[in-house]
Amino acid sequence: MSERKDFLRTIVEADIKSGKCKEVVTRFPPEPNGFPHIGHAKSIAINFGIARDYNGHCNLRMDDTNPTKEDTKYVEALKDAVEWLGFEWEGNVRYTSDYFTQIHDYAIQLIKMGKAYVDSLGEDEIREYRGTVTEVGKRSKYAERTVEENLELFEKMKKGEFKDGEHILRAKIDMSAPNMKLRDPLLYRIRHVEHFRAGNTWAVYPMYDFAHCLSDYIEGVSHSICTLEFENNRDIYNWVLETLSLTPPRPYQHEFARLGINYTVMSKRKLLELVEGGQVDGWDDPRLPTIAGYKRRGYTPESILAFCDSVGIAKANSMVDVSQLEFCIRDDLNLKVPRVMCVLDPLKITLVNYEGSEELDASYYPDDVPKEGSRKLPFSSDICIERDDFMENPPKDYFRLTPDQSVRLKGAYIITCKEVIKDASGKVVEIKAEYSKDSKSGSDTSGIKVKSAIHWVDATRAKEVEVRLYDRLYSVEAPQGVEDLNADSLKIIKNALIEPAVINEKPDERFQFERQGYFYADPVDYTDEKPVFNKIVGLKGSWDKKSKKTETPSKKVEVKKEQIDGEVVAMSQTQQTLFDKYTIELKLNSEVANTLARDAQLSAFYEEALSQLNSPVSLANIVSNEVARELKQIEISELKFSASQIADLVKIIDDGTISNKIAKQVFEEMVNSGENPSKIVEDKGLVQISDPAIISAIIDEVMTKNPDNVEKFKAGNKKLLGFFVGQVLKATGGKANPQVVNQLVGQKLK
Ligand code: ATP
Ligand code: MG
Repeated sequence: MSERKDFLRTIVEADIKSGKCKEVVTRFPPEPNGFPHIGHAKSIAINFGIARDYNGHCNLRMDDTNPTKEDTKYVEALKDAVEWLGFEWEGNVRYTSDYFTQIHDYAIQLIKMGKAYVDSLGEDEIREYRGTVTEVGKRSKYAERTVEENLELFEKMKKGEFKDGEHILRAKIDMSAPNMKLRDPLLYRIRHVEHFRAGNTWAVYPMYDFAHCLSDYIEGVSHSICTLEFENNRDIYNWVLETLSLTPPRPYQHEFARLGINYTVMSKRKLLELVEGGQVDGWDDPRLPTIAGYKRRGYTPESILAFCDSVGIAKANSMVDVSQLEFCIRDDLNLKVPRVMCVLDPLKITLVNYEGSEELDASYYPDDVPKEGSRKLPFSSDICIERDDFMENPPKDYFRLTPDQSVRLKGAYIITCKEVIKDASGKVVEIKAEYSKDSKSGSDTSGIKVKSAIHWVDATRAKEVEVRLYDRLYSVEAPQGVEDLNADSLKIIKNALIEPAVINEKPDERFQFERQGYFYADPVDYTDEKPVFNKIVGLKGSWDKKSKKTETPSKKVEVKKEQIDGEVVAMSQTQQTLFDKYTIELKLNSEVANTLARDAQLSAFYEEALSQLNSPVSLANIVSNEVARELKQIEISELKFSASQIADLVKIIDDGTISNKIAKQVFEEMVNSGENPSKIVEDKGLVQISDPAIISAIIDEVMTKNPDNVEKFKAGNKKLLGFFVGQVLKATGGKANPQVVNQLVGQKLK
């Protein structure tokens, strides 16, 4: 059990102590409409982890109430993820669809109690009748139907005698409830579609709010743990179970904060878009935050669980730095995997004074790793080193090989450059060097001082391997769409050279390639004839260096702890009212609405901007992300920009003057100078390029520069569409209108 107790475990312990709960039963209830991602890993770790810690059990339940998007391949991926993370579900995999008959019977019971009715209003009327946060709703005249009428209509709905949307079944609760979710919520809707398990048995499907609490009850769940956006649904959850007066024990719902990671998109819908759009190579593309992706990339289950643990369980949504995850995998592999040598970009070295060949003994592990094992390193006069480990005209702090500076070949000898050979273009193609006979590693008596040791391979006996260098999929912290993709997220090196023991002896599947990072033998494409290695993570975060952050996440963990220990704070009435207005009237997503509603300054700022420009969703996004971030650092009175300037910014985004990406740049400038957005755009020439003629010309240029990729695309490699779009966006410094680019690239490549 983790040593610190989070708020969920505190609740569970109290429930055991008070006797409210006899056995701890949890469930992980994914909807099988996409591959699970690291957010699901967190939910898995919490649900299965709590069950394990308190000697209970956890069910794996497919929440398959939405027949249009679900599929068995997702079911398999979900099972695989749970197993890979090292958990076991109780009994068989469960399906909400297995309970359709029972759930239907409960609906009948509610109808008979006069607590549910068939409504026949149109969608628009239903919305209108629901009222607003400031106005009570009005009940439909159909609520007057008798029990008999309702039973008959519901039976006909079930038999498929009506069209989709013609009738719905609603709970009869309270049309003036302050929590708008309680204003006669939908229980069943008509859907004439085939279900991947239930086939065509049903023409009506239960809504989440009705199916979830009952499925929990049917399975004997004690603690129904879900994410924060379901906070307002808790009242319906309780209403259904209480109204049906079910035999105890009954489940209770508790919410925790979703996991969000910067530089990462994590909704299944957005991931599906990447997969279908060919921007990545399937659901298990090693750049995706899916469990299948991490698994293929070489992450270990231990590292993912350590990450989830380090993030903690909080009651308020927050963004975790992706370097925290990268730290966890490094930390796990550092003491586990063999260290070997692989040269990614070989430069030939000929040792003019070396004759014959030998085999050097080299340990797979450094002294501080408590593991044993060694291999032979072949050595001869033909060596390869990394191209950038030699420089002819080095800067002052360059410690590797130069015409005047010797270097040690790791585990072997010290070498000294004698001659630099170049081709006609001036490129260095070979170094002639001498080795110092008495400088052998471990028995060096040469007295030569070198400033570094570099990795190398024996050119004649090394094996050629393919190395796939993965980097972050997005180049911006809060990615929005394809325009934010990192054009360099995958680099393939076809003929790297690796020492032979790695292939012949296979001491492991994961390795540290000395000075390069951690790598994993690709579980799909690797063969002995054509070995393929995926880069898991670099040795030090290169992105951390870019942003001048230190590598250890100790500071971050501290910050997180405050949130973990933080109180479970319910919304005040005012906050709840705002939240409802934001989600229902303004259609903001619940996460954004939650951020705004809980912060009086932020919501006031938002309302002010909204009074200038009627673009609720775009404004809310900027205020809840960018503006909120600024306010974490300074007081609102110190902001250089005003709400009306934010409204101006959104206006020029909405009308297409600038792209979302450029908007970020403009915002940064507003933070620093307080200048008006249109002035910044004008001064810096940031206007979005939407003119098809200009974009066309740029596309032509990109195509001429990449004839091979054009050919590959035409031969059927549709994945390259993303490459071309990325290149064009890059060529315009992000100013090209992504929609236009997408469309034109598509046309031109036909
Ligand atoms: P997405 O929005 O990514 O599609 P979802 O919430 O629709 O995710 P479900 O399959 O319904 O995905 O979720 C299964 C379980 O995993 C739920 O209990 C949900 O709350 C949890 N979960 C999903 N995403 C996250 C996340 N980012 N962090 C923590 N838990 C999550
Ligand atoms: Mg969902």
